[in-house]
Amino acid sequence: MYLSKQEIHSFHPSGTQAQKPDDLAYPLRSALERENLFAPEQIAGRTFPIACVALEITQRCNLDCTLCYLSDMAEAVQDVPMFELKRRIKMIYDHYGDYTNVQITGGDPTLRSIPDLVEIVSEIKSYGMRSALFTNGIKASREMLKALAQAGLNDVVFHVDMTQERKGYASEKDLDVIRLEYIERAQNLNLRVLFNTTIFDQNVADIPRLVKFFKDHADSVNLASFQMQADTGRGVLRERDVDLITQQSVMQLIEMGADTPLTYDMPMIGHPDCNKYTALLVAGNSVTSLYDDAPFFTKLFAELAQQGVDWTVDRKVLPRAMKACLTSPKLMRLGLLYSLKKAWALRAGLLRGYRPQRISFFIHNFMDAEKLEKGRCEACVFMVATADGPLSMCVHNAKRDAMITKAVPQAKGQTAWDPLTPHRRNIGLENMPYKKLKGRQRAAAAVKRKKVA
Ligand code: SF4
Repeated sequence: MYLSKQEIHSFHPSGTQAQKPDDLAYPLRSALERENLFAPEQIAGRTFPIACVALEITQRCNLDCTLCYLSDMAEAVQDVPMFELKRRIKMIYDHYGDYTNVQITGGDPTLRSIPDLVEIVSEIKSYGMRSALFTNGIKASREMLKALAQAGLNDVVFHVDMTQERKGYASEKDLDVIRLEYIERAQNLNLRVLFNTTIFDQNVADIPRLVKFFKDHADSVNLASFQMQADTGRGVLRERDVDLITQQSVMQLIEMGADTPLTYDMPMIGHPDCNKYTALLVAGNSVTSLYDDAPFFTKLFAELAQQGVDWTVDRKVLPRAMKACLTSPKLMRLGLLYSLKKAWALRAGLLRGYRPQRISFFIHNFMDAEKLEKGRCEACVFMVATADGPLSMCVHNAKRDAMITKAVPQAKGQTAWDPLTPHRRNIGLENMPYKKLKGRQRAAAAVKRKKVA
């Protein structure tokens, strides 16, 4: 059943690894075990202790998406100061260790200054963790991306879709101009380029065409993530059309665009009701599913887990897989067979001189704020770094106002940092200036204004 309001309120950020201090993957692994989800194909809690942690550095945004997950209070909240961000970065490291994927996000993080962003990226890098900038791209200039890449940024993730209501773009296809411009902006900076697309009734039919677009740019785009509409946050749209948008329908539409049979849940990343993952190998016009050899990959994941290495760390994936194959003749045999099968599937492209590229597709199924399933929240692989510790993103979304307006203690003797200025605390949402309102609040205020006029 769903978490009650009281359970959401008291759902605590995950604790430290008190039971097994040297085993950072233990909390996630034990939650997955409780759900009977720690199968051989499961890599969460096996080759990494968490998939990613969001570090929200601002709640401000320069767009007003119809499915925005931010809360009504977002624009009234001040940016998190650097001392607190650094404390949260250390907290992420203490929980999850090396190579953790830290998402620098918001709101739109590019509304902060370039020196601030450089300092944040450098701090994450100093712990040996990976960083990704999540942005709508409007303010992510080449100059900004260059500075961040030099500071050690690993990924840039562009959110582009019709929920953003960008002026002058009437369809997902029209938005390809922006996607192409962003790809070019990030080129040759040693950054992985990823795209986020929110899926709702107005663009679900575009998935095959979008997949083809990303596949055609597999030399520049590393991953495309499709986030299914959810009833959470301040956006004017609410629940998805459950006859139209399901994990099954999105998987099928991706397969249609990929134009080859795909394998999902190999590897499994956390709870399969939350996440679906698949990947392709592309060489020119030749395409094949990457993970369609269960015996090889389950043995490989087990071997990597024994070596205590993270499968997801790009550039190290291939050398690590090869090293793992050297440890076992059986794995070596399976690996060789697998490589031959893939080379055969891609032969036409390879013979024409194309280098094989990998592109991944991810489906994220956020829950509605009032329909949180306990088991999924406990086995969550996508955390938010809150002042009190990492917390499942779905739970955080369901109590955002309380989380983002909470005062944060400073060093002994100093007063707590309050995200709301005293003025903001006093005026309340109903008296916020119109230009500060977004989503449902703005829509309601616009109706009122019309009536008055
Ligand atoms: S954020 Fe929500 S949907 Fe995503 S993994 Fe966590 S519990 Fe599942």
